[in-house]
Amino acid sequence: MHHMTLAEIARGLADKKFSSEELTKTLLARITQLDPQLNSFISLTEELALQQAKAADARRANGESGALLGAPIAHKDLFCTQGIRTSCGSKMLDNFKAPYDATVVAKLAAAGTVTLGKTNMDEFAMGSGNETSYYGAAKNPWNLERVPGGSSGGSAAAVAARLLPAATGTDTGGSIRQPAALTNLTGLKPTYGRVSRWGMIAYASSLDQGGPLARTAEDCAILLQGMAGFDPQDSTSIDEPVPDYRASLNGSLQGLRIGVPKEYFSAGLDPRIAELIHNSVKELEKLGAVIKEISLPNMQHAIPAYYVIAPAEASSNLSRFDGVRFGYRCENPANLEDLYKRSRGEGFGSEVQRRIMVGAYALSAGYYDAYYLKAQKIRRLIKNDFMAAFNEVDIILGPTTPNPAWKIGDKSSDPVAAYLEDVYTITANLAGLPGLSMPAGFVDGLPVGVQLLAPYFQEGRLLNVAHQYQLNTDWHTRTPTGF
Ligand code: GLN
Repeated sequence: MHHMTLAEIARGLADKKFSSEELTKTLLARITQLDPQLNSFISLTEELALQQAKAADARRANGESGALLGAPIAHKDLFCTQGIRTSCGSKMLDNFKAPYDATVVAKLAAAGTVTLGKTNMDEFAMGSGNETSYYGAAKNPWNLERVPGGSSGGSAAAVAARLLPAATGTDTGGSIRQPAALTNLTGLKPTYGRVSRWGMIAYASSLDQGGPLARTAEDCAILLQGMAGFDPQDSTSIDEPVPDYRASLNGSLQGLRIGVPKEYFSAGLDPRIAELIHNSVKELEKLGAVIKEISLPNMQHAIPAYYVIAPAEASSNLSRFDGVRFGYRCENPANLEDLYKRSRGEGFGSEVQRRIMVGAYALSAGYYDAYYLKAQKIRRLIKNDFMAAFNEVDIILGPTTPNPAWKIGDKSSDPVAAYLEDVYTITANLAGLPGLSMPAGFVDGLPVGVQLLAPYFQEGRLLNVAHQYQLNTDWHTRTPTGF
């Protein structure tokens, strides 16, 4: 049962081959048995899951249908879930039970999903390896000594290990696409504003976007359908009709113009990954796509710009964790200043503290123009590069990551080494564009992802290209040994 995709589950439930309750029990037992190896969950929500599963079965019995009705999923632990711990991977929120559901959580619950639990993540979504979590590293099911990627590493590890078919994630600089690539999944970061950020604990508000992690493009389409849409509670949500994403999965790729940026293949990219990317290009050519070399000349400035903007926004967003209103409070504070200092010093881990300091510095009087403002100007140049490229091509293709999954701990002493892993993903966040990562092969037994980028609101185009590719390749069907 655990090998089924969301699409297969929907068919099975509709044909009464099994009930959502049976499926939920099977998956909960599998999680209890296997998750100790992976550490992919921070909290399990068995009671809620069984209650939702029974409710979904009752709705089906009453004649209701829907691809998500009775579908088991999990949420990255930064989506607020009413009455359930929402930790954001931090000691700061270890005791925080959210008083309300995030819009994404509420929408998916209304569509009939069953929440099995809350997944592990880098603390406040800062990281690329799930190594900064207060709850310990999550492990990659393809090799338990390696990272599953981050920050949505728990969601990725759980879905890759067939503990459940799909999960939510968030992507500020790559945190859906990068873990998807490192664990052989399909992951989609939607256009900024497509999915509501209400109740999604903020890291860098102008970059954060929720999206689906699943094994196939079709399943990403199904999950995105339940997540996307205008939300008046989120001032950056965009009032744009949500298309039927599954209906977009049958388009021919004949004549589709795919741009491959020449800057993507410079030093830093593992040559074995470069070869797999070229193979995926050939496959898409066979399906009718036309390949064109393009240029994104400002790409080299993306990492420095991102690592000013994201920490600047984080330093502002995280100022609310002061030991007074909610979250962690130190023992016996001597006075108010001591309360602030020790609550934040003890509640936040070292990577979060580093980002707050970098961000506060970049925003401070005297440095604002030199760092923050400059970074914003670079952001505009990067967006302009994409706009020019999309005048010539329909899709941009390249690697998702420069390397396959690294060993847990290998980059811990050198934060910049970890930041460099984001080189291919962060530009989409800076420009607000949608991006998808899909399985494209293996290097030393470790999965490799190919990234597709599209113009604003063309999630359907990304999903269709990935779906056509998956109809003609079998990388996405490979399963890690032992799971
Ligand atoms: N690795 C990037 C960072 O640490 C992106 C994280 C994310 O997308 N949440 O900021």
